[in-house]
Amino acid sequence: MNILILGGTAEARDLADRLVALGHDVTTSLAGRTQAPLMPQGAVRVGGFGGVAGLAAALRAGAADWLVDATHPYAGQISFNAVAAARETGVPLLRILRPAWTPPDGANWIHVETAAEAAAALPTGARVLLTTGHTGLPQFLERDDCQFIVRLIETPALAIPPHARLLQSRPPYGLADEIALMDGERITHLVTKNSGGGQTAAKLDAAMRLGVKVIMIARTAYGPAFEVDSVNAAVGRLSAAG
Ligand code: NAP
Repeated sequence: MNILILGGTAEARDLADRLVALGHDVTTSLAGRTQAPLMPQGAVRVGGFGGVAGLAAALRAGAADWLVDATHPYAGQISFNAVAAARETGVPLLRILRPAWTPPDGANWIHVETAAEAAAALPTGARVLLTTGHTGLPQFLERDDCQFIVRLIETPALAIPPHARLLQSRPPYGLADEIALMDGERITHLVTKNSGGGQTAAKLDAAMRLGVKVIMIARTAYGPAFEVDSVNAAVGRLSAAG
């Protein structure tokens, strides 16, 4: 089958490798945000499609049998575009959505819907580990009554003000390192999206052990698609269809 994968995640890479090994004709699409990304097997295209119309045109031009949305759970625009382009072209859409994290017993989580709500939920004087990526960053940094460690993979476009410090690093993160970071920086609040998966989950365990409050930004619902929660299940679903 001819499969277009919207990628940018470890799951997308793993899926492409497995589908290519099964003999499928796979193209992975990357947004092009990351310098020197790890490359999957199969063909790779880089850069935006130009909205829903562009993605629909690419599906038609590539005679795609399936569109797979294997983007990050919070890559919102491309996931909405995938739903609309699938509807427009009739190409079936399979979404891989990792299971969300759930609070362990006794955890101190505050649930919010948006980055703006998360920024507003911080009390004056909070020492914050901010792990929400580039989206919403200006809203957090407006809070100059708080101190921030901003952990990002890529350098942000905006200047980091004096009440914040940039920590550039790449997951996975282990529990001992997360505890050392939060303890050493006297972190009082961890702000995170509910990304799910194992690569960045240790921060939640570290927060629980240190009594750090977690402000958890909820996921968005993207609309109709066949949905699976793992690469294994995606391979199974596509194999059953082929
Ligand atoms: P986004 O807000 O949903 O996307 C913004 C625009 O970027 C889309 O409208 C699309 O442009 C283009 N785009 C996004 N993903 C694309 C893809 N895989 N292939 C081609 N174009 C893509 O996404 P984002 O949050 O900026 O994330 C960009 C990429 O980084 C995603 O592929 C995602 O898997 C990966 N990522 C995101 C996060 C996160 O927290 N958001 C974390 C890890 C990895 P057009 O409208 O022009 O097509």
